[in-house]
Amino acid sequence: MENDRAPGALVPGRNRIRLYTELDGELVSHFSLHEFENADGFVMIHASVPRALELVRRDLCREFGEEVEIRITDAVRTEQELKQLARTHGWSDEGGTVSRNSKHLAQYGGIAVDIVATAKLTGRRVPQDRLGAVCRRYFDFVEDNYPDGHVHADNRAVLTGL
Ligand SMILES: [Zn+2]
Repeated sequence: MENDRAPGALVPGRNRIRLYTELDGELVSHFSLHEFENADGFVMIHASVPRALELVRRDLCREFGEEVEIRITDAVRTEQELKQLARTHGWSDEGGTVSRNSKHLAQYGGIAVDIVATAKLTGRRVPQDRLGAVCRRYFDFVEDNYPDGHVHADNRAVLTGL
């Protein structure tokens, strides 16, 4: 096994665990644990996140009249990953887009995701502002003005009172 791969990267089934959420008495599952892995293959997700994502997906499917897929482009991050990201995109207090106090950090319990959404059949990308508007219904905090088109969503209210 090569050393530069994430631990267990070649092991079939790693983090291939479906996440089930109950919506209106029905179990739905459109996300799998592996979709939330960091670069090293480790995962931390707050329980509120898969539920919020399922609700966002359901609304988008209804509003677009076709199946919409949500792709997680980033979830939990280590300090090291955050610094690496800041080297590329800059710290937000220096005019960049990366927050030093990022809710993606493991210390916040996996409350944050970065996502994009596309219509499954046509491959049409859901516009960033529309995805952001739907995310605001189910996440506490949403940022939808990144130049690369992703939407940041997190459930920071769970941190209140810690
Ligand atoms: Zn983010």
